Amino acid sequence: MTRKLIHMALISILLTACNNKVQFASYDDYPVYDGDDLELIYTPQVSKFRVWAPTAEQVKLLLYDNGSEGAAYQVVDMKRSTDGTWKKEIDEDLKSKFYTFQIRIGEKWLSETPGMWVKATGINGKRAAIIDMNTTNPEGWESDKRPPLANYSDITLYEVHVRDFSVSANSGMKNKGKFLAFTEAGTKNTAGEATGIDHLKELGISHVHLMPSYDYASIDESRLNDNKYNWGYDPLNYNVPEGSYSTNPHDPASRIREFKQMVQSLHKAGIRVIMDVVYNHTYTGEESHLNLLAPGYFYRHNADSTWSNASGCGNETASERPMMRKFIVESVVYWATEYHIDGFRFDLMGIHDIETMNAVREALNKVDPSIFIYGEGWTAASSPLAEEKRAVKKNAKLLNGIAVFSDDIRDALKGSWMHAEIPGFVSGTDSLEESVKFGIVGGIKHPQIDYSKPIYSKDTYVNEPSQSINYVSCHDDMCLVDKLKESKPAGATDNELVRFNKLAQTIVYTSQGVPFIYAGEELYRNKKGVHNTYQSPDSINRIDWDFKTTNKDIFTYYQGLIALRKAHPAFRISKADMIQNHLQFMDSTQANVIAYTLTGHVNGEIWKDILVILNGNRKSVEVEIPEGEWNLICHDGQINLNGIKTISTTKFTVAPSSASILYIE
Ligand code: CA
Repeated sequence: MTRKLIHMALISILLTACNNKVQFASYDDYPVYDGDDLELIYTPQVSKFRVWAPTAEQVKLLLYDNGSEGAAYQVVDMKRSTDGTWKKEIDEDLKSKFYTFQIRIGEKWLSETPGMWVKATGINGKRAAIIDMNTTNPEGWESDKRPPLANYSDITLYEVHVRDFSVSANSGMKNKGKFLAFTEAGTKNTAGEATGIDHLKELGISHVHLMPSYDYASIDESRLNDNKYNWGYDPLNYNVPEGSYSTNPHDPASRIREFKQMVQSLHKAGIRVIMDVVYNHTYTGEESHLNLLAPGYFYRHNADSTWSNASGCGNETASERPMMRKFIVESVVYWATEYHIDGFRFDLMGIHDIETMNAVREALNKVDPSIFIYGEGWTAASSPLAEEKRAVKKNAKLLNGIAVFSDDIRDALKGSWMHAEIPGFVSGTDSLEESVKFGIVGGIKHPQIDYSKPIYSKDTYVNEPSQSINYVSCHDDMCLVDKLKESKPAGATDNELVRFNKLAQTIVYTSQGVPFIYAGEELYRNKKGVHNTYQSPDSINRIDWDFKTTNKDIFTYYQGLIALRKAHPAFRISKADMIQNHLQFMDSTQANVIAYTLTGHVNGEIWKDILVILNGNRKSVEVEIPEGEWNLICHDGQINLNGIKTISTTKFTVAPSSASILYIE
């Protein structure tokens, strides 16, 4: 028997065991509801409830006065309606009330659920809240605009955890660990240097990528004084902001209003906002708010009917099923419209199917095609979804307008993510040049790259450079400072570790594609050597803002790299053929040296020709450069866009473990 037949047989047995109900031979036979009125449409005159629960034999709506305590003041039966839905209308003003749904299958009443489309909740997200969304808009929200963006390749990403951003005593911010910290201007560290949103403006990044900020489960919102920490990859309610980041998680409107204030403030600062979305799994399986509506349907299963686990978190959702796909698509559109979100980073995007991701792209194009979408093009473990259907890196050519993280450049630069002690190109390791070059061209097909050599991919996987996210570190695994320290070659000094760091990010910011950094890397942050800090205390995860003063040289260098990229379109080419025609690698007979030119005022570049030389060796190297009057703007760990000096010799010496960038007018 095929896996599908076994599966169908099991479902069939499951469903025919009970009386008086609609029976389905397989999940493929479940009805699909295509309306846009799930699960509540509220007006002061009437609240219209409609919940999709096709296998329920009875559905109750429970109404509460309180978001977490006390018994229901009213319990009403819902009536079976079209396409697997159940309906109830209540002709009263239910504003400020709370509700849950509860379904019966056979003799068993399942746990109550606030539903999966819920937009507001009480504390800890257990009960849905009825509020007037219009009252959550901050002043001036109607005129809030996305900052301008011409091309995805103009983006510079900055990944930050809401709590890490402000929670340090030296952050200068009042709303520590809250969305509102992003609205505080004029904040300073101990030495009087800008922190918070002013710091982001100084740094020059275009997009803030917020780590999970939807309502997640692992933090008890009623015990915030415990100061517990979590990254938040444990989704509870996808369409609700996280309560612990609000000033009052008891008030359902507070988290919504304050999230919008954060977005508004970042937009005013010229910074776009990206949400990290984790539709690939839920915090719990059986008891998730999705599963309590239609048990099993929203998840994939193994052939033996056990829950499959491509997320490594105990379950994986089934984006290929129409109601799950509809949910994901409508959820991102909701965030993009209600909260003015400018982009989405899909956690373990490889768990989702290609068709769903393309539907997400299409739906967001209708809102605004400049909304950026990218994801992790892999799964955490095996999945029943066939590999050719997965939105994984090797299938990225089928995901137009969706980018993937380049683990090829990441691990080529810093060394293996899995083996902390293994160094990369920037620390002097041999034979990683082709992997680095693969990143430099933004992962596209280029005639001067030997595609048998990149460490993970053996061919190009993108159509355009903006589909490649170039990075050397993110929240996962060791941060850059810790990794470089852990993998340092024998005898390497602290000064050399700084050189490795600067060289790594020089490659990230000068490569074609979309550069990405982890918040605090620009301050030379460390995480005390801890590689998985998902629930480590603030003392490890927080941004220590005084590092900005002690590591001023690093901050200034990163700032220079971003300014270079921003001012010079040669480093952010949006078309593959333009890179093929204008980016040329120079022949190098030396190991661990990569040199290339960007020629002919490419992409509207003001400089005629640009020469980038990357020296991964721990000693200086002499490189033969083309004749001409070169202006040196980056050298030996310093950047000066006005020019450090001019070079007219063809024998040029690059300092150890560093980059030199030169141009001809
Ligand atoms: Ca929560």
